[in-house]
Amino acid sequence: MLISLVVPCYNEESSLPVLCGALSEVCGSIPAHQFEWIFVDDGSKDKTLDILRQIVSDHPEARYVSFSRNFGKEAAIFAGLTESRGDLVALMDADMQDPPSLLPEMIRILADENFDVVASRRVSRKGEPKIRSLFARAFYRLINRMSDVEIVDGARDFRLMRRQVVDAVLELSERQRFSKGIFGWVGFRTHWIEYQNVERVAGETKWSFWKLFKYAIEGIIAFTTVPLRLATITGFVVSGAAFLYMLYYLIKAIITQVWSIEPGYASTLTIMLFLGGMILIALGILGEYIARTYMEVKNRPLFVIRERGEKPVSSGTRRKSVRSASPDDRKKD
Ligand code: UDP
Ligand code: MG
Repeated sequence: MLISLVVPCYNEESSLPVLCGALSEVCGSIPAHQFEWIFVDDGSKDKTLDILRQIVSDHPEARYVSFSRNFGKEAAIFAGLTESRGDLVALMDADMQDPPSLLPEMIRILADENFDVVASRRVSRKGEPKIRSLFARAFYRLINRMSDVEIVDGARDFRLMRRQVVDAVLELSERQRFSKGIFGWVGFRTHWIEYQNVERVAGETKWSFWKLFKYAIEGIIAFTTVPLRLATITGFVVSGAAFLYMLYYLIKAIITQVWSIEPGYASTLTIMLFLGGMILIALGILGEYIARTYMEVKNRPLFVIRERGEKPVSSGTRRKSVRSASPDDRKKD
């Protein structure tokens, strides 16, 4: 059986050699299967690409594609899955946070026909800033309440899938991808394995607070339209309250026969500001969905490949194995 290992890499010059060593060891320990390693260089600014060229020349099972700029991890995952040819495909980070040593067990579980996916879940968030863990938990609670698709707290992108699952994931060709949700959406029988959080072996996490916030919004909007409904419901509640308030004053005036306008500057202003705020929030929510529709309609490719590193041909040099997708090449195609 051919097993593809897909690794998105962005500025991973210091982690890649460690990962490669670990992969060699693990793959060597499972001689029953063939492996292909697919690295996706997501427009790294450090020496990642040089290291990948080296890896390809040293390891016949390795290949890479290199993007023309940083397109983000989701695009890198999509590219890697598109490139993969294996009957089983594993997705893993370059920084050893997804321990390659778990692979043999994952493969063993899939050998048993009962499952289509082996996914992994961190049971602790050790080594992560407290505030990040707090927001992450709140996010998962919120999204699971709003969306029909189950998005598992602590689920990593580290998973091994059958070909059929990969094809289903690739069928979802949306531009704004939220893999955690996409994996949940395609379904299939999933076996979860749990492990303690491992800190990255080298380099730094690419997630800033702002990036995580954007990712969370992306996740919510990609997998539920409940915020739109909330805006509508809030609109109904507020206007209902305003109507009751009006009735109250009307009835009071009829009973007391006092029709003079009361001095209510402060309350009027408060209500106006409140309503103004509500309208802006509702417009903002609407805008988020419309903006995404706009991006989807443009139908741009998810990534642009600048260079590929293929398996070296037996007599060839490394340079021969590297084919750059220059505009001329594409014309020939
Ligand atoms: N990554 C990527 N493109 C990006 C950001 C990250 O391909 O724009 C890769 C990164 O090289 C790593 C994986 O995605 O292999 C996870 O990134 P990171 O370790 O920063 O995330 P964390 O593990 O902290 O969630
Ligand atoms: Mg990591």
